[in-house]
Amino acid sequence: MKTIIVGGGIMGLCAAWALRRLGAEVTLIEQASLPNPLGSSVDQHRLIRYPYGAARGYARMVHAAYDSWERLWRDLGVTLYVETGTLVLSGPGDDWAAQSRTMLAAEGIQHESLDAAALAARFPLLDGAGIAEAFQCEHGGILRAEAIIGSLKHHLLDRGLRLLSRMRVDAVDAEAGAVRLMDGRRLQADQVLVAAGPWTAALLPDLAEMARPSRQVAVYLAPPPDLAVAWYHAPMLLDIGQQTGFYAVPPRVSGDGMRLGLKISDHRFGPTGDPGAPFAGERQARPDEIEAILAPARQRLVRFDEYRVVEARTCFYDVAPEERFQFRRLGPRGAVFCGSSGHGFKFASCLGEAMALALTGQADFAAVADWIGGALLTPMDQPALGVFGGINALPASASDSSA
Ligand SMILES: Cc1cc2nc3c(=O)[nH]c(=O)nc-3n(C[C@H](O)[C@H](O)[C@H](O)COP(=O)(O)OP(=O)(O)OC[C@H]3O[C@@H](n4cnc5c(N)ncnc54)[C@H](O)[C@@H]3O)c2cc1C
Repeated sequence: MKTIIVGGGIMGLCAAWALRRLGAEVTLIEQASLPNPLGSSVDQHRLIRYPYGAARGYARMVHAAYDSWERLWRDLGVTLYVETGTLVLSGPGDDWAAQSRTMLAAEGIQHESLDAAALAARFPLLDGAGIAEAFQCEHGGILRAEAIIGSLKHHLLDRGLRLLSRMRVDAVDAEAGAVRLMDGRRLQADQVLVAAGPWTAALLPDLAEMARPSRQVAVYLAPPPDLAVAWYHAPMLLDIGQQTGFYAVPPRVSGDGMRLGLKISDHRFGPTGDPGAPFAGERQARPDEIEAILAPARQRLVRFDEYRVVEARTCFYDVAPEERFQFRRLGPRGAVFCGSSGHGFKFASCLGEAMALALTGQADFAAVADWIGGALLTPMDQPALGVFGGINALPASASDSSA
């Protein structure tokens, strides 16, 4: 079977990985270099965690994600994940932490509630005033985004991926399974998958409501030197409120000696804009955007005025209604994934596997699309979909045989 993937972010690459494992031929077309530094997937880290507010379908999907990343690490020959654990906080009136705790309890996912004394004893980096709820999960951590993209690219090139980089796709013909390239050429396959992230609506304008580019700001910080060791042992911090809040990615040194920085950001959606605008111009983070990220952290972290801003980055992701990922048929020979809404990276490997099963006809497309959209499926439904059952049945060395 021949497939074309439009977009070489984490979604396109993971779909390519899974399709190669199923024995499909894959041509991946990327408009920029790969990785595209302006894409959603490019930064030191992306987080994976079980707490998910009331979104139980996605909390349950985290199990599938961890299983799937393990398959990817085996293929890559390296684990590009650093476990940190997860600390969830909230102020009075914010219900995300309480919803997450209730849902984790219902799902049987281990976590520990912390009272003010326990919080103060374990996390002296925090100012406990104003924290109404806190709990800790043993699991959760850092997916090393840039390293994963780089490693996957080379793994796939070694296993027969055909990569066309610096080549934009200008049109998709989902009846014929064809794309038109910027140089006028037409390429044809059995299936086309569009995974264009925040550029989705530029290629498929009908999907503008399902993939609104949202401008986000992330700030790298240097803590006061005497707090550095505590940060290297700290879990990821999630303080996600309706109106305010932030999350912090703790610094780490990975097994291969890479220094991963302390980063804070938030989960509120920003203004829309052009994801392709160059970094030197309007992509630069403005002082007011940086201050909006720092303000909630200033309330929670002791001695925050002694922290130094090292770097601030802007990044676009594409937002769908209710933050539900979209996997849609464009025609008999074409499909699109979009709407990753700021929480897609953690699932990319299992989404890639599920989409590959659907595109090759080994799982029911509509059922896979529901699962990808965060629908809460019962354990009875999942094997019937071929989602978990099918994924787990993939032979670990299929990619080698087609190299
Ligand atoms: C600041 C920030 C923090 C985040 N934190 C997390 C987190 O902690 N955990 C988490 O799970 N997720 C997180 N996310 C979300 C996650 O990064 C995204 O869900 C994911 O990277 C989306 O990947 P993608 O492949 O869909 O998009 P992209 O990485 O943008 O890839 C799309 C690619 O398609 C290419 N392309 C577009 N149009 C065309 C065309 N016409 N022809 C050829 N190529 C084309 C683009 O150049 C681009 O390389 C975060 C996102 C941001 C911005």
